[in-house]
Amino acid sequence: MESDTIAAISTALGEGAIGIVRLSGDEAVAIADQLYKGKDALSVVPSHSIVYGHIVDPATGERVEEAMVSVLRAPRTYTREDVIEINCHGGIMSVNRVLQLALKHGARLAEPGEFTKRAFLNGRIDLSQAEGVIDLIRAKTDRAMNVALNQLDGKLSKKIQVLRQALLETVASVEVNIDYPEYDAEVVTHSLLQEKAQFVIREIDGLLATAAQGKILREGLSTVIIGRPNVGKSSLLNSLVHENKAIVTDVPGTTRDVIEEYVNVRGVPLRLVDTAGIRETEDIVERIGVERSREVLKKADLILLVLNYGEVLSPEDEALFKAVEKMNVIIIVNKTDVEQKIDLSAVETLASKRPLVTTSLLRDEGVEQLEQAIADLFFEGQLEGADVTYVSNTRHIALLEQAKTTIQDALDAIEMGVPIDLVQIDVTRTWELLGEIIGDSVQESLIDQLFSQFCLGK
Ligand code: GDP
Ligand code: ZN
Repeated sequence: MESDTIAAISTALGEGAIGIVRLSGDEAVAIADQLYKGKDALSVVPSHSIVYGHIVDPATGERVEEAMVSVLRAPRTYTREDVIEINCHGGIMSVNRVLQLALKHGARLAEPGEFTKRAFLNGRIDLSQAEGVIDLIRAKTDRAMNVALNQLDGKLSKKIQVLRQALLETVASVEVNIDYPEYDAEVVTHSLLQEKAQFVIREIDGLLATAAQGKILREGLSTVIIGRPNVGKSSLLNSLVHENKAIVTDVPGTTRDVIEEYVNVRGVPLRLVDTAGIRETEDIVERIGVERSREVLKKADLILLVLNYGEVLSPEDEALFKAVEKMNVIIIVNKTDVEQKIDLSAVETLASKRPLVTTSLLRDEGVEQLEQAIADLFFEGQLEGADVTYVSNTRHIALLEQAKTTIQDALDAIEMGVPIDLVQIDVTRTWELLGEIIGDSVQESLIDQLFSQFCLGK
């Protein structure tokens, strides 16, 4: 396949000292050769090697950059085209100049995600893997990173392929039935269909069960700290932010309009929602009223309810317990360094089996236990190291849910004795829906839309 040569700055995540100008396409080596001065021309350098040299402006002969250049010839490359990577270590200015030179000498500026789009179109990766790349770019914690990497590995794709294969077998069996009615396969086909449909439903359920967790891993557990004034909410927020690596969210090209702080607590990404607001107003419930605050609370995945060890339980405290009755709550009794006034057994009753931690944020005591409680609550001990395929992409979740509905329809139809060639329509539709997850039957516009989400240079 012939293609024009694209170029873009493709820097590592975060602000690396090294900038990479990447070219991909038939003319990648030839274009780079015009700019590169080294021991040998790039055209004679073996594939998959790195050479040292300078980038020179052919018009003036001026040395623009000292550079390491990787030469990667098709097809063993990310895009399956010839790829050149010019590693510059000057600042963004000189990286930019190298890019401008490449554009001046025959390359075209890549659209966002165009490298990955080419990898997809050239069959190097399937769509769910491509989406894995998007997630990877956006991954907020190590654990989220692993989910993305699994997807990139094609774990989800493999699972989907197994399901599609099962469906295909039943479709084939139905075809036999229709084409050779004298060969009495009807009974066999019925039970085969039933068996495969049940298998597919079970597997889809399994995948969907991981979806909520996958989404949280990707987007963070939205967490709200509540409690009466002066119990230590700000102190808690500060110790969570300071003791844990704050998560970098500066993904180029994305805008963040909500003020949130991300922290990674033992692999659980917490999105401390509107913490700026909490900081300023001290008390979210007091400021916005009980009704509004209930709405805010309703959207939270996790509530940290803080009480004061040095004061007796008040009606406000009990009202807070009531407001978060059916939610994920961790109760924190803070200020254990002062004289005890609170009735801990009354707190335990209110907590009713939900985790309860005592802390002295002043002395930095109990924070470890709190972090453990957060991790336990989220992972329930079962996720650690487990070989689970997480579904974390909204589009995948929607498709899985549709696929489940159609295959359930097929199953119901079988059980009602509907003719098999009618049942087959649902089976085929399920097969198509699953195919959309891995990009087997997606329309052009969807592809474009997906790839435009990429950072430039990926
Ligand atoms: P908020 O109003 O709930 O946000 O509470 P703050 O975090 O602003 O804390 C109120 C006051 O309690 C501050 O003076 C803190 O230094 C103090 N404080 C916080 N945690 C502790 C603790 O564990 N022990 C003691 N003695 N004081 C604390
Ligand atoms: Zn405060």
